Formats: sequence, C-alpha cells, structure tokens
Amino acid sequence: MNSTLYIVVPCYNEEEVLPETSKRLLAKLTSLMEQGKCSKDSRILFVNDGSRDKTWEIIKQLHESNNLFSGLKLSRNCGHQNALLSGLMTAMPLCDCAISLDADLQDDINAIDEFMDKFHEGYEVVYGVRKERKTDTFFKRTTAVGFYKLMKMLGVDIVYNHADYRLMSKRALEGLSQFKEVNLFLRGIVPLIGYKSTEVYYDRAERFAGESKYPLKKMLSFAFDGITSFSVKPIRLISALGVIIAVLSIAGLLYALISKLCGVAEVGWTAIVASIWLIGGIQLLCIGVIGEYIGKIYSEVKARPHYIVDELLNK
Ligand code: UDP
Ligand code: MG
Repeated sequence: MNSTLYIVVPCYNEEEVLPETSKRLLAKLTSLMEQGKCSKDSRILFVNDGSRDKTWEIIKQLHESNNLFSGLKLSRNCGHQNALLSGLMTAMPLCDCAISLDADLQDDINAIDEFMDKFHEGYEVVYGVRKERKTDTFFKRTTAVGFYKLMKMLGVDIVYNHADYRLMSKRALEGLSQFKEVNLFLRGIVPLIGYKSTEVYYDRAERFAGESKYPLKKMLSFAFDGITSFSVKPIRLISALGVIIAVLSIAGLLYALISKLCGVAEVGWTAIVASIWLIGGIQLLCIGVIGEYIGKIYSEVKARPHYIVDELLNK
C-alpha cells in the first residue's frame, strides 16, 4: 500500500508561479504521506525546460530547503511534451506511480487523492478530465472543443477534455518508454499503452500568475502535430478530393466538347483562368499536406533524442 509517488511538473519561465505552486504541492504531498496514501520516498519533481528566467534558481533553493523537492534541468527548451517525458522517464525507476501536472496549477490538485485511490484499486492509468471550462476564455474553450471533435473525427482515440494531468503506474511508464516516436503527442500515445484505465473529474481553475506559455501559434502547431502524428486521414481526404475533381473535370470536358459540336463554343476565358487558379491552389494545398507527412518521416528517421539532461537534483 505504501507506494512511492512522483509528481512531475514541467516548468518554462515559471518564476512567478513556482513559490505558490511549490507551497501548495508540498502541503498536498505531506498530507498524502500522513494519510498513508504514498511513501516517504515520494517527491515533487520540477523539470526546468530551458527557462530564461530564475526558474532553475528557485528549484535549486527549493531542493536545498526540503528534499521532498527534486529538480531536473534540461539543456535547453525542448517543449512541454518533451519536458514532461523527461520527468516521467526520470521518475520511472524511482517510483511506483507518477502524476504529471502543469506548473500553473490550473488543474485542481485535490484530485490527486482520488488519483491515488484509483491507483490503489488497481488502475494503471488515471486520466484527469475537466468538468467544464468556465475559466478558460471563450476562444480557448471553443478551439479546444473543436480540436477534440476533429481528432475523434480523424479516428484518433483521445480522452475528451483531458490534458496532461494524469497518473501513470510504473508499468504504464515502462510501456510509454517503448514508444520511440520523435513527434511526441502524449495524449494520443497513453491510450495506446492499453492497461486498465479510468477517469477522475475536476474543475479547472485560472492560471493564478504569469501568462500562458501556449500562445495561439504554439496551440495550432500542437493541434497540427497531434493530427499528423496520429492520423493519415488528411492524406486520404486529399486522394478523395483528387477523385472528385477528376470526375468534375471529365464532366466539364464533355460539356465543352458538346458545346463545340453544337456550335455554341463561346468558351469563356474567365472560366479557364478561374479553373487554373482553383486547381493550382488545390494542388499546392495537397502537396503541402503530403510534405508535412514527409517532414514527419524525416524527423522520425533521424531519431534525435527528445531531450538532453543537464543536471538532476534528487536526494
Ligand atoms: N511548458 C514547458 N515548456 C514549454 C511550454 C510550456 O515546460 O515550452 C510548461 C509550462 O511551464 C506549464 C505547462 O507546460 O507548466 C503548460 O503550459 P501553460 O500553462 O502555459 O499552457 P496552457 O495551460 O495555457 O495551455
Ligand atoms: Mg496552463
């Protein structure tokens, strides 16, 4: 019953939130220990994802003041997903289960108790699912919901309204470590591990300090990565589009021939120019999408490491 828990928190320029976050997490971890829900070897592991502010200094101080805080420093900014993976992989040999959590504590840490209960009931993966998104802006909410719907439509199995707040057992982490893909989209990969899983519902709060590290541009590229890493449907759609256009152009050809034969061939210049532009545009779009997949293959064959560890503070 006395299992070791690692709470993995990726941090990128989070100096404003870390003091408060660490306080709240420490209170949570000690209360879990007192209730016997986790062992004394449990830790809060902050991953510094190449921050340019004082984040790492703060983590170092925290570690020195209390050894329940651990720190992992990556050599540079590797992105949220890679930072998360580095933390989970560092925790894997040291823990029985690990929970990933954003530094801004938008995800209610009181759900951790229930996460641990579910883990002790024998679930290997526990997904934290947001009840509703009252505190997100209208824009973020609609784009996020649209994204989940689109992913479902494209045949990617992801848990609705679940971000990266989840518990994974050691065994599930070992499963995760076997996925070698460079284009990392954890939300899509974790369901593929396949062990017994369940969901826990919680309310999502606002970021209490600092600003989102996911501006629109990063959000779009994250969504795009998610789609192209998990679904070949866009390529199929392109093929379907090609077929439709081919059929349409045969009809157009017949029409042109018949009008010529009937002697009413005032064939419009406009129509020709318009169709050239249309077809040209569609072709460029299609080449672009295919190029995107080739780019993915390119980075997969290079098989570069996800992250490079600079320093680990753990005692
Ligand atoms: N993050 C990171 N590396 C990055 C961007 C973000 O480690 O390149 C971390 C960030 O510190 C936070 C988490 O990822 O702990 C989620 O980021 P944020 O809260 O800004 O995203 P949002 O909640 O707005 O989607
Ligand atoms: Mg956030």
